[in-house]
Amino acid sequence: MSGQPIFNRLALIGAGLIGSSIARAARAQNATRSIVVTARSAATRRRVAELGFADQVVETNAAAAEGADLVIVCIPVGACGAVAEEIRAHLAPGAIVSDVGSVKGAVLRDMSPHIPAGVHFVPAHPVAGTENSGPDAGFAELFVNRWCILTPPPDASADAVERLKAFWQLLGANVETMSAEHHDLVLGITSHLPHLIAYTIVGTADELSQVTRSEVLQFSAGGFRDFTRIAASDPTMWRDVFLANKDAVLEMLGRFNEDLSMLTRAIRRGDGDALFKQFTRTRAIRRGIVDIGQDSPSPDFGRPHPGLPHAPLPRPYAVDD
Ligand code: NAP
Repeated sequence: MSGQPIFNRLALIGAGLIGSSIARAARAQNATRSIVVTARSAATRRRVAELGFADQVVETNAAAAEGADLVIVCIPVGACGAVAEEIRAHLAPGAIVSDVGSVKGAVLRDMSPHIPAGVHFVPAHPVAGTENSGPDAGFAELFVNRWCILTPPPDASADAVERLKAFWQLLGANVETMSAEHHDLVLGITSHLPHLIAYTIVGTADELSQVTRSEVLQFSAGGFRDFTRIAASDPTMWRDVFLANKDAVLEMLGRFNEDLSMLTRAIRRGDGDALFKQFTRTRAIRRGIVDIGQDSPSPDFGRPHPGLPHAPLPRPYAVDD
């Protein structure tokens, strides 16, 4: 528990992985005096009440926004505009409205027109997550030592930006500020394109399943398994990300295809030097990520293997007797 709360009443609209993690972290850090949560479905609202990480669970977005000095919209980006329209008449003067969407340009475009004068809009993206969804998936430590990117519009109140920054820092995040456009370009390559590649490769392997069904799963530790984790991410969220960040993703996909063609050519021509040069460069990038504390240096991403059963050697390597 830290000192004085930064906000009085935090309203979270959406209580999935991100919304429920914010609630848990805000409570653990005493970041707000009270937390009110709503979600689209009665089932999720019921579950939030059972889990007990909110002081109040309400039925509508409007009821959540009433009297809150910080409103964070934690739903798929494609739905943010409609929710902003729904809550506009219920926002308290001086309140800060924010979001957590993985795309910022589209959120700024869709939500801004509904933010009344005297209310501050400061979009945000905590660059932290897992492949799990829903209120059970959240945890208070999700944002610790992860980045949260704020993309305030040029005329945003500096005081509102500072208060939101202090909130995220209290939840454990490092905070960076940039334009929505720049955010979408950077995340296009660091997050959106990797997800697209994972969705593709897992889909391709599935289509080959006639030949490989058991082997794909059996030998998945050879790299495929890490793609399957990313490819298990929420389909609604990621559909919205690609629709909302179309231009940046297409730009990055163009560059990726050029580089893939270069490697394809190197393999076809037996150009080992070109392959070695590229792989040496990328290995250094991995080391850089570990050096700045954004991943574990442990082999296998630090996964524990306590109860791993001893499986017999797979057929191609087993000695037939
Ligand atoms: P999630 O676990 O699937 O939860 C989504 C929440 O949004 C649920 O409470 C859901 O309500 C609600 N919702 C879904 N569609 C809605 C709609 N059309 N209108 C109103 N509410 C709706 O998702 P999440 O992972 O927390 O993601 C939420 C946001 O965070 C997304 O914008 C995503 O881009 C961003 N984000 C995600 C990650 C990540 O790794 N997952 C990381 C950073 C940012 P019901 O349960 O009642 O359906």
